[in-house]
Amino acid sequence: MKKVLILGSTGSIGVNALNVIRKFPDRFSVAGLTVNSNISTLSEQIEEFNPEFVVVNDQSKAKELAKTLNRKIEIISSENGLVEAAKKYDYDILIGAIVGFAGLAPTLEAIKRGKRIALANKETLVVAGEIVTRLVAENSAEIIPVDSEHSAIYQCLVGENLNEVEKLILTASGGPFLNKEKSFFDNATVNEALNHPNWKMGSKITIDSATMMNKGLEVIEAHWLFGLPVDKISVVIHPQSIIHSMVQFVDGSIKAQLGLPDMKLPIQYALTFPERLSNDFERTNLPLINNLTFFEPDFNKFECLKLAYQALNTGGTSPCILNAANEVAVEKFLNGNIRFSEIPKLINKALDKIENHSNPDIETIIECDKLTREFVNNLN
Ligand code: NAD
Ligand code: MG
Repeated sequence: MKKVLILGSTGSIGVNALNVIRKFPDRFSVAGLTVNSNISTLSEQIEEFNPEFVVVNDQSKAKELAKTLNRKIEIISSENGLVEAAKKYDYDILIGAIVGFAGLAPTLEAIKRGKRIALANKETLVVAGEIVTRLVAENSAEIIPVDSEHSAIYQCLVGENLNEVEKLILTASGGPFLNKEKSFFDNATVNEALNHPNWKMGSKITIDSATMMNKGLEVIEAHWLFGLPVDKISVVIHPQSIIHSMVQFVDGSIKAQLGLPDMKLPIQYALTFPERLSNDFERTNLPLINNLTFFEPDFNKFECLKLAYQALNTGGTSPCILNAANEVAVEKFLNGNIRFSEIPKLINKALDKIENHSNPDIETIIECDKLTREFVNNLN
């Protein structure tokens, strides 16, 4: 029986993780759940999964929850609640399903304790990949990717030798604007950008998919997860999202992993690896899919993808600047304060202006994240 701590249990990945856990009650139990503020969904989750503790980021919501709960569980609501949860409590697997930079600090605590991390929160690897992978090795922790592309690559690499990999091929749906002209980006609305053709996800990652920054972040994520240089990580557009990614080996052979666009499968794999457990999730009906297509990505149209490759090539705190600027720019776009086409412009300005530090320690990364947020918040 494995005890699971879910960071971000009310989000798209968090809810899907609980959908998996619900299917295997003799394998997994819930140690703790953490949320930002959604206590109504959290209350239902507490009722069903009976965690030992919960973290509610929003303090007034935490008080409200304490009044309405009819059972005794610990409710943590301090500035450091997530870190405290990851550091002090008893659990075997941490599911990193929180969005953005906020996932970094608690994930590091779990790594220091040698836990298995089922990682959806790609931003953690983007901003601090070097430190994270070093600590994983030092503490015999494990990161099993939940991101579908990285789960696919992970699965393709089982039984293979990394030295025999020629390149990774990350597939990208291309998002809702794949077939739009670049000129459309000036007036693209929030609703249009949130209308992803294949995946139902949280709003931040959905906007990242529309700009293709998501794929850029995933290139950086793949670099750290699999320890391969940037020139061995390629992107191909595959609008059907059935092939979740591929690995090409030195003999020219390509292995791919296929499945429906449903995060339950990579989540389950990250929880049960190296085992596979039988489930009743919907199966891929290949004749029904009928057609799988592939294109080169357009780096001129999707500038964010280009910026991410550049940041990875530059190294140091560049990916941290890229990520922080992107988080703020996406929020500004979602709030109606900037145009869709301005997202890469803001990120570019931040990469230009904020000083890059090589081999950053964690304090430098936290400082860089803060400075970049201030800088981009003050741009208008
Ligand atoms: P989401 O917005 O649906 O959910 C985010 C969750 O994190 C919520 O439960 C929210 O309450 C919690 N949260 C946010 N900020 C918090 C904070 N400061 N403190 C405590 N809790 C906080 O997001 P999502 O789509 O589930 O994505 C989560 C992560 O998984 C992201 O990093 C995303 O890139 C990655 N991911 C998501 C998908 C997907 O299909 N949704 C696929 C691959 C990777
Ligand atoms: Mg992905």
